[in-house]
Amino acid sequence: MFIDKVKIYVRAGNGGNGAVAFRREKYVAAGGPDGGDGGHGGSVVLRVDDNLSTLMDFRYKRKYTAPSGQDGQGGMKSGKRGEDLVIKVPRGTVIRDAGTGEIIQDMSSSEDFVLCRGGRGGWGNKHFATPTRQVPRFAKAGLPGEEHEVILELKLLADVGLVGFPNVGKSTLLSVTSNAHPKIANYHFTTLFPNLGVIYVDEGVSFVMADIPGIIEGAAEGAGLGHDFLRHIDRCRLLVHIVDVSGSEDRDPIEDFEKINAELAQYSPDLAARPMLVAANKVDLLPPDSDNLERLRAYVTERGYEFFEISAAAHLGTRELMRQVAYRLQSLPPVMVYEPEYVKPLAEAGDVSDLRILHDGSTWIIEGTWLSRLLNDINFADYESRNYFDRQLRKSGLFQQLEDMGIEDGDTVSIYDFEFDYER
Ligand code: GDP
Ligand code: MG
Repeated sequence: MFIDKVKIYVRAGNGGNGAVAFRREKYVAAGGPDGGDGGHGGSVVLRVDDNLSTLMDFRYKRKYTAPSGQDGQGGMKSGKRGEDLVIKVPRGTVIRDAGTGEIIQDMSSSEDFVLCRGGRGGWGNKHFATPTRQVPRFAKAGLPGEEHEVILELKLLADVGLVGFPNVGKSTLLSVTSNAHPKIANYHFTTLFPNLGVIYVDEGVSFVMADIPGIIEGAAEGAGLGHDFLRHIDRCRLLVHIVDVSGSEDRDPIEDFEKINAELAQYSPDLAARPMLVAANKVDLLPPDSDNLERLRAYVTERGYEFFEISAAAHLGTRELMRQVAYRLQSLPPVMVYEPEYVKPLAEAGDVSDLRILHDGSTWIIEGTWLSRLLNDINFADYESRNYFDRQLRKSGLFQQLEDMGIEDGDTVSIYDFEFDYER
């Protein structure tokens, strides 16, 4: 079975917690604080693997979790960081947010993509050994790893897409012109998954052509195979429309041509507008009294398409067609790469009553689930982002709460791995 669309859940590792520990030395009654930091959680990283051609590996495994960082320990020992979890995908896999369907990333280049960041480790109490904080009995919790439910969708990377009714000879054309070995037989829907082939036209001139399962009338309404597979030619720069003119299936070539075009338009007006060459196939079978070939030629050339007559099985006209395809490709834009659309919604403040507030001298330690998520989304190097953080904290009523508990100007507010001086 060919699998080219799956929904998976991924989660990065949590940061480990910081340690509360004190140095124990001989003859020293109470040593200083020496609790180490928690390790960072592992991230979830996506990587293109050209040995993969389907999303089959995801069929039975739908949940992916990167390991968490380990907790810090005494003796200043930091916790080990969680290793990144690398998920391999075939080139051309498009990652979408499962909720909105928006594109997060197009895995068509070879660059790794961090889908979920691991949580940062919490500080051990060694950080709190300042003159004003003599007995730091607190450490910080690690931050949670990000999580995401995403859809992986394979959209092959091909320059040329073959379209046409089932049985018109698409797979045959690919097999006689390229290194691919698609299944060929004289019945409909022999091709059950897309095939890619590389066509070498000349020294240094080559392109990739995709053969997809035949689309048929009504595929837009979900009849038979078809529309699902059109996604594999979404990126194509050029379409080659194969029409069987032999009349071997008692259909009219002009009707065939229009029906397929209508299917394309229904699936995607954008795809229907892609440059297209038309090839009349099986001319070797053409009955002497048939006007199919000439009628189709007149019809399509009148509409501005370049027209070719070929016999894929007899290798007639196929080289000329491939040469012309290569020539046309020279002046067409490169294979489409999708721009990311998805913008992660920023975490928002929750209720102040859900926070834990620890108070030790002039230091105020605050923790809570919504606060950790909020902090994860803040980039403290960015003014707008800091402002957002400030607004959210105010909205939650945290500052009022601290006032009520007696916080004073100049006290330290310590939130996970972030600290600032309190000012009214
Ligand atoms: P697809 O469904 O469009 O991929 O069609 P196939 O490539 O599987 O071909 C369907 C049938 O038509 C097979 O039996 C082929 O051998 C046959 N066929 C394909 N091209 C030609 C051709 O140019 N001439 C003749 N006589 N038969 C062909
Ligand atoms: Mg086929």
